[in-house]
Formats: sequence, C-alpha cells, structure tokens
Amino acid sequence: MKDKVVVITGASSGLGEAATRRLARDSARLVLGARRLERLLAVAEALSLGQDAVVQTDVTKFDEVKHLVDHAVKLHGRIDVIINNAGLMPHSPLERCKVDDWDRTIDVNLKGVLYGIGAVLPYMKEQQSGHIINVSSVAGHKVGPGGAVYAATKHGVRVISEGLRQEVKPYNIRTTIISPGAVATELPDSITESDVAENVRALYERVAIPAFSFASMVAFAMSQPEDVDINEILFRPTRQEYRATALNS
Ligand code: NDP
Repeated sequence: MKDKVVVITGASSGLGEAATRRLARDSARLVLGARRLERLLAVAEALSLGQDAVVQTDVTKFDEVKHLVDHAVKLHGRIDVIINNAGLMPHSPLERCKVDDWDRTIDVNLKGVLYGIGAVLPYMKEQQSGHIINVSSVAGHKVGPGGAVYAATKHGVRVISEGLRQEVKPYNIRTTIISPGAVATELPDSITESDVAENVRALYERVAIPAFSFASMVAFAMSQPEDVDINEILFRPTRQEYRATALNS
C-alpha cells in the first residue's frame, strides 16, 4: 500500500475519514475531497499530509471531481485508487414526497460515483492499471420501508460497478464494491424527517460498529496481489438483523 496514490471522496467524516487514517498509517499518498474544507484540512493536518492533499469538492459537479483527480495526478504523477465514498441517506417514506432529498440522494450517491469513475478512467486506461472502489451498502442488496430511494442508489452503485468491472478488463483495472451495514458515522444526520431520524439513530446506537471496520475492508481489497480482484465485500455488525428498515428499528 506504501506510496499508492489514493483519492478519497467524502473524506471529511465517517468512513472516508477512517479510510484516510488507515491508509495514511500505511504510507499511501492521499488526496482528499469533500465540501467541508475546514474538516478536510483538520484531517490532513492531524495526519501530516499537507494542504496539497486536500481539494474542496462537490461530487455532484463533474468538473470538481475531475479537478480533484487531475490534482492528484499532477501532484503524484499517477492515480492508483479512487474510493467513491461520498454519500448521504435522507430516508423517508415515499408518500412524504421529499423531492429535494430524492434529488440530492441520486445526485451524490449515484452521479457522484459515476463522476469519480469518469474522472479516473482516462488515466487508469493509459496506465493500464488502477483500482476503483465504490461504496454501496446492505441497502444495495435489500430495500426496506423508508429506504427506497437510498436503496435504489445503492443498488445502482452495484450495477454500475459490475458493468464497469466487465468493461475495464482489457485495461487491467480492478473494481471493488464495499457494502457496509450500520457503521457509526454522521450518516443519520442527513435524515431530514425527525421521526425517521430518531428510528435510525436508535438502530445505530444499538448495533453500529466503528468506522475502522470499513477501513480494514478497504485495506484488505487494496493489499491483494495485482492479479487478485476483490469484487465485493458485504459486511455488517454481528448483532445487526437481516432486515433493512428505516421506519421501525
Ligand atoms: P458521513 O455522513 O459521516 O460522511 C459522508 C461524507 O460524504 C462526508 O465526508 C461528506 O462530506 C461527503 N459528502 C456528502 N455530500 C457530498 C457532496 N455533495 N460532495 C462531496 N462530498 C459529499 O457518512 P458515512 O461515512 O457513513 O458515509 C460514507 C458512505 O458510506 C456513503 O456513501 C454511505 O451511503 C455509505 N454507507 C454508510 C453506512 C453507515 O452505516 N455509516 C452503511 C452503508 C453505506 P461534506 O459534507 O464535507 O461534503
């Protein structure tokens, strides 16, 4: 993992921050993107990464994602890994017609991943190497009441990742989907309906595991020999039940 050039979206908190900490320990060369610049700078400073390691990025804008990736290549001469991690989870029942939440969820969780893929592919194709890690969810495998739109985006991430896997075979690019269950992060804060947020927080308080669990999965996928392609990792807290529901935790 040493010296691998890794771009991480959504590195300002939660899973992205945990992956950043883990990969910094392994001496990867990291370039971090998210909207909250102060938070990114604080992470970079704590790990002595330098201000150059940070690019304020909104993943709903292709130009900004491209700038993030271009910056990494300009700085380090190549890009080895992108972790398309930025996401939100504003659960609510469809009947509440939360159009803004639907739009944001699709823009960040689905288009943001596509933009990350689109930004790195020209470089990875040219290099004939690279690794694209997309963050899905248990909700990429199942849907429950209140989670339809989120689950649709996370199913979409898995479908896009599998299509990508088949397309990039000729270019020696690896693709990994990581699908976590409940992990303790700021994710429930993205829920705009207070009753739903309360349910999800109660579930997380009961079962969620620490964010370094995700970082370990990233490290496992990245540290395999070049000819080994870990296509998906699905993991949950041991105590999390099978069902996925935002309405009755
Ligand atoms: P957090 O809320 O802690 O982190 C979300 C990250 O996404 C933040 O760094 C945030 O940064 C970033 N982000 C949100 N919107 C944008 C945007 N428009 N542009 C750039 N960055 C953005 O939650 P998690 O760490 O849990 O979430 C990370 C991923 O993990 C998400 O894709 C989530 O769906 C997935 N996941 C999480 C699970 C969990 O239980 N925690 C379970 C399954 C999947 P900023 O606000 O600074 O832009």
